[in-house]
Amino acid sequence: MRFHYSTQFSHLCVKLLAFALIPALALTPVWAQPAGAPTIGAASAADLSPALERKLGEAIMEQGRRDPDYINDPDIAQYLNVMARKLAANAPGGAPEITAFGVRDSVINAFAMPGGFVGINTGLIVAAGDESELAGVLAHEIAHVVQRHIARGLTQQQQSGHLALASLAAALLAAMIPGGGANLAVGLAAFGQAAAIEQQLGFSRDAEQEADRMGFEMLRKAGFDPNGMAIMFGRLMNAASLNEGRGGGIYASTHPLSIQRMTDMQNRIRQLPLARYQASDAFWFVRAKSRVLQSTDSKAMRQAVEQMEEETRQVGADRSSLTTVRRAAAWYGVSLAALTRKDINGATKALSQAQSIMLNSPYLDLQRIDIDLANKNASAALTSAQAGLKRYPDRRAFSLRVAQALQMLGKDREVVVFLKEQVSRWPTEEPSFFQMLANSQDKLGDSVSARQSMATYYQLMGALPAAATQLQQARTMSQDFYVQSQIDVELNQITKKIHENRRLLEKLR
Ligand SMILES: [Zn+2]
Repeated sequence: MRFHYSTQFSHLCVKLLAFALIPALALTPVWAQPAGAPTIGAASAADLSPALERKLGEAIMEQGRRDPDYINDPDIAQYLNVMARKLAANAPGGAPEITAFGVRDSVINAFAMPGGFVGINTGLIVAAGDESELAGVLAHEIAHVVQRHIARGLTQQQQSGHLALASLAAALLAAMIPGGGANLAVGLAAFGQAAAIEQQLGFSRDAEQEADRMGFEMLRKAGFDPNGMAIMFGRLMNAASLNEGRGGGIYASTHPLSIQRMTDMQNRIRQLPLARYQASDAFWFVRAKSRVLQSTDSKAMRQAVEQMEEETRQVGADRSSLTTVRRAAAWYGVSLAALTRKDINGATKALSQAQSIMLNSPYLDLQRIDIDLANKNASAALTSAQAGLKRYPDRRAFSLRVAQALQMLGKDREVVVFLKEQVSRWPTEEPSFFQMLANSQDKLGDSVSARQSMATYYQLMGALPAAATQLQQARTMSQDFYVQSQIDVELNQITKKIHENRRLLEKLR
């Protein structure tokens, strides 16, 4: 279990790290603060500047994207980030950039990392009873970011061990050894360590109340049901008491839940006028997909399928639309699970069931395309993917399928044109665009461009040394002076970034 190593850390290094961290970063030293400064105050947040905090977060993410538990799925990434943006837009006084991502882990948890990166475990998505419950937890985490609790915690917490941060920095450094970054399959479990840091910070009661208050406002103003927050915290409290040390217990240990917090939330809800809230269909599909993604062995998968089959039978007495979406999403999950097992027949049957109760859903369209691709029916997949992209132009998942189908048809020239359009629209969001681009460029004999595309792919995945290697190869292969000087500029930037990251991490170690 990913949290076990947090218990291995002793509490030796607290002061050492506090000293290593602050003077090295050349920021407002803590000892310059007047004695008796409040535990939560504007002054303390200056210790770890937002820019530096973001850098630290990026360094963790660079490794984290190669963590096997990092969910590299455009459906889930887009869903969580649209939700995060909607909430952050309603933060009083604005919010820094928030990047939400899914983590393949059935433990109910969410954690805010330095720099506005927020990890959401699949277990939390699966445990949520509806969209507003998930949004409630996300809003609370975003509030921790907006109120700079992580930065304050890192600079202020003097009683509990900072060893998690130091050990994470050391691990990140080790992974940066040239050549070590080339193998993307080597996972570092960076998120387990990042979550452990939050666990060690142990936000204060005041911080939790602040995050509740602000999170509640964001939730309400963004149009979600404000009851969601109280209901989800109720679930987490139950999980904590039923299942100590796991699930809700973990979330509860980073965000101490209390009757007081529940009462506060319920009081806030009571003061609101009655209103109706519209939840999106997407939640149920993302939830079903999360359930399949977190089932990493056959036993877990069997249980997931049983649960989803159970949900397909939940025909509400009123045949409400909510029940319809839930049932369709459950069939979708059954279809996903079958396709994971390469059971194309089963996948097709379950998808037909889903489509018989719900006609229009991008998730169901995507599943149909994936089944066609698995069946090597590339032309059918291409037609559907192009139609899907026309209908849902903001969904990167359709773009990926268009490129996949074109590649299967051997139309590499078209792939290159198409993907170049896509990466001008989404230059950083979808690293796999560049990997596919490199593939087609290679097939067309353009090995210099292929190396450059791979370099961008590695850069976006955070494997900077591997990116540098690709560029060096491209430079040797190229005969074109203009291309060579272009590569030199890029190589310089990467080398600079590698050094900067190393310096930062060495100071935290
Ligand atoms: Zn909290």
